[in-house]
Amino acid sequence: MSTESTQLEYPYDSPPPFGTTQEVAPGVRWLQMPLPMSLKYINLYLIEDEDGWTIVDTGIRGDETRDLWLKVIENELKGKPVTRIVCTHMHPDHTGQAGFLTQHCRVSLSMSFQEYLMAKTMGPMTRDGNHWQTEAYFERAGIEKSFLEELHNTPSSFAPTANDHPFPISFTRLVEGQILTIGGVEWEIICGMGHSPEHVCLYSKQHRILISGDQILPIVTSNVSVHPTEPEANPLLGWMESHVKFKALIPNETLVLPAHNLPFYNVQARLDELIEHHEDRMLQLEENCVTPRVAADLLPVLFARKLEGYTKIMALGECVAHLHCLMSRNRIERTLEGNRYLYRSIAPDLSTRAHPDRHEPPDDLPRMV
Ligand SMILES: [Zn+2]
Repeated sequence: MSTESTQLEYPYDSPPPFGTTQEVAPGVRWLQMPLPMSLKYINLYLIEDEDGWTIVDTGIRGDETRDLWLKVIENELKGKPVTRIVCTHMHPDHTGQAGFLTQHCRVSLSMSFQEYLMAKTMGPMTRDGNHWQTEAYFERAGIEKSFLEELHNTPSSFAPTANDHPFPISFTRLVEGQILTIGGVEWEIICGMGHSPEHVCLYSKQHRILISGDQILPIVTSNVSVHPTEPEANPLLGWMESHVKFKALIPNETLVLPAHNLPFYNVQARLDELIEHHEDRMLQLEENCVTPRVAADLLPVLFARKLEGYTKIMALGECVAHLHCLMSRNRIERTLEGNRYLYRSIAPDLSTRAHPDRHEPPDDLPRMV
């Protein structure tokens, strides 16, 4: 199943070139920065205030993005300073330049409490592959120890370097329902869950704009994973609840400014698709667990491509997230057999819900972001 929508409208054919910006509403500007991963770019946004600019998301660490920021600050801000830096969530493509920008501009970093704490404390999960709890998580999911040992020796592209500015030591808290007035326009903070714990979106009713970060993307689906740091987490439950919440809050005529792909209209259709996408994946798993299965053996159900290295770990995290959501709905039960968890379907009406078109895994890879 493809996650690409045919129902969305994209008012811009292409992004502004690196180092330049494009106005998408009065006082709201869009820019892109490069990423060294399967998603090649991240969208960042600038909101003009009377006395300066708010930056929303900062790009990934490294000299290339830092140098582009220096160019943007010099050429695109009408000589006004940066007065606030917002990070929608803790992932490294969003927070990578937060240390540099807060230092360079001498302004505070604004984040939700959980995202700030997570950004401060989380390194790449698989770094701790030799810890017994991490090993137990992967062993129970059916991943071989030799695979983990190999992975442990592979450097992560997210790893900080000696040149990186440290993450800011203080922050300004953003909370659900808070209003930021920027340039006389009210922006409401709306938080989502699932992709990250307290993901901030900025919604302007006046502009009819939602800066959605990774909470709502038009083409790809965001990664929603269980990690060894919280092996019993149920992030997909929060992800699905967030879709319902955004459906209730965001009118369809809203222009969505996402962190990846292009700005788009028809958010209600996209939210319906995302709900359907995950319901479909859960149903596929349920159908494949009529005979008890371990999580690692279920990866081909969700991903058609060969999975290696960190991609396999991300896929496993997504698979377990879907299994945990099914467990919370009493559609799957889990038993520990030896050192491995077996998942077994328990819903009695499975055959009546099966859909003939829902058996092909998408030609897709799990997302790192
Ligand atoms: Zn993200």
